Amino acid sequence: MNKNVLRKLSYGVHAVGTMDGERPTGCIANSVMQITSSPMTVAVSMNHDNYTHSCMEKSGKFSISILSENTAPSVIGTLGFQSGRDKNKFDEVAYEMIDGLPVITDSCGYFLCKIIGKMETTTHTVFLAEIVEGDVFEEKKEMTYAYYHQVVKGSSPKNAPTYIEEKKEEQTAKVTYVCPICGYEYTGEVPFEELPEDWVCPICLQPKSEFRKKE
Ligand code: FE
Repeated sequence: MNKNVLRKLSYGVHAVGTMDGERPTGCIANSVMQITSSPMTVAVSMNHDNYTHSCMEKSGKFSISILSENTAPSVIGTLGFQSGRDKNKFDEVAYEMIDGLPVITDSCGYFLCKIIGKMETTTHTVFLAEIVEGDVFEEKKEMTYAYYHQVVKGSSPKNAPTYIEEKKEEQTAKVTYVCPICGYEYTGEVPFEELPEDWVCPICLQPKSEFRKKE
């Protein structure tokens, strides 16, 4: 089988928000799709190992914020490459609480969901949910997964459904330094060695000293 065919599927980049008791938490998901329009339902695939997964199961609800091409890469770094078990991710991103769920304000808009069903796979739960509220913040261009990968130069964590396909692409990219946490590949015009010592990964904020030269 040629697994590269799966790279032809298109996705968006979204922030999932949910509640850990009184504490907002969440992660990044590209596997969000609308299933029906009446009632309005969506499906989201979430890895069993993600802390967000257990919080979604307990609370029965979540938000989806649709990230834009202008959304700060650090939003993806904070929500996508750290665990809500260890830290309050929402302390580091701009958000507002809407009907009891956190929504990323640096985005195109959001919708709020109530979980109405789920299907288990070996690694992921596919949550089926009804949209109960939603709004557009302003007309921004939504971030596609292809844009994130090609323009922002980001990768995704190993829990993402698309992880394997990305690693293949990473191996063929012409880059010199790679972030070991988020996979960001530095390809700027200034040589990496000449970047200031306080330079950090634009996606996950790892220090320059953590970057590894690509062999
Ligand atoms: Fe990084």
